Amino acid sequence: MEHLIKDNVKAIEISGIRQFNDKANRTQGVLKLTIGEVDLPTPNIIKYKLIEAINNDLTKYTQNKGIPELRDLITTNIKKEYNVSYSTEEVILTVGTTEGLSIVIKTLVDEGDEVIIPTPGYVGYEPLITLEKGKVVGLDTTINNFEISKRALEEKITKRTKFILITNPNNPTGRVLSKHEMDVIVDVVKHNDVFLVVDEIYSEVVYEDQFSSFIHYQEIREKLIILNGYSKSHSMTGLRIGYLIANKNIIDHLVKVHQYYVTSASSISQYGALAAEEFTYSEMVKSLKSRRDYAFKRLQSMGLPTELPNGAFYLFPDISEFNISSEEFANKLLHQYKVAIIPGEYFLGNHKNYIRISYAVDTDTLKEALNRLQVFIFDLKHN
Ligand code: PLP
Repeated sequence: MEHLIKDNVKAIEISGIRQFNDKANRTQGVLKLTIGEVDLPTPNIIKYKLIEAINNDLTKYTQNKGIPELRDLITTNIKKEYNVSYSTEEVILTVGTTEGLSIVIKTLVDEGDEVIIPTPGYVGYEPLITLEKGKVVGLDTTINNFEISKRALEEKITKRTKFILITNPNNPTGRVLSKHEMDVIVDVVKHNDVFLVVDEIYSEVVYEDQFSSFIHYQEIREKLIILNGYSKSHSMTGLRIGYLIANKNIIDHLVKVHQYYVTSASSISQYGALAAEEFTYSEMVKSLKSRRDYAFKRLQSMGLPTELPNGAFYLFPDISEFNISSEEFANKLLHQYKVAIIPGEYFLGNHKNYIRISYAVDTDTLKEALNRLQVFIFDLKHN
């Protein structure tokens, strides 16, 4: 019956990250620095809200856009932080940021349309775009110290460009955009017939207090779509709850696609997120910062060139000196030294000279995994 499956579904694959992680799970005694979620539990106050929602029978359909209390609170918090006004109707609660991305892509991308994405980039984007027969146009930032330059961005724009997709802070680099880069991106959007879609899922996992949302660029409001969620900010990946904010002209279309795909996000998760929206999980961020500092120092002492990232929970060291691909590097490290990391070439942009290390694991695991990595690096340098 294979012939009945759509060609563009056959053409995509389960992500390299998932496959590599499954391989690591099948290998005994492996320490994993692969995972895109924090080891810490979901805070109790959120758990109580989830249980309370069940006990109060809040287990029925909600409005398609989601419960007004949470959408209200999101807009109130935006007003407080950025002095920007969005109405409750301009927010949709989604099944994780992933559903937000999916409905944006479903709404905007037709066959042959192009989406510009700076690379290295998150693996979840491209398959959603190719499923719509659209095309990803990568913008390689490794050649410019991971910075997005105006010229490079403008050069990628064609008549078929529908939107620019930015991840800030970035996965896999953990990098947070500078104000200058944000200005440049907004300027390009302003002068071209394109949308700007920003995935800010790591917005609360920032260390040097320099994150600012694109939401304050109200001069491009009619072209701006902000995606966010609670998976990373409150360690609740399994609850599948996120949101998107956009001007009414866009929301009116997005909500139709959202309605027919999912009706609404889980009612229980929406109530859990209502508690999450009230506070920042600062113990988690503090703990991640000390793990980042520790892991970064260790990589420096191994002589692996690495940028100090200001957000998310990943490090992205350069392994070019070893003259092997990131996949070969990762396979050797997995099979001979029992540590799993993710090859850079599994991310958007196919960056074979880098690896991604997730430090969102407990400190004992992190320490021992880095000890093993150090031995591997020593062996590579001396054999
Ligand atoms: N966007 C980025 C950049 C991510 O790294 C991830 C998860 O790793 C997601 C979106 C998915 O988020 P969610 O759990 O909200 O669907």
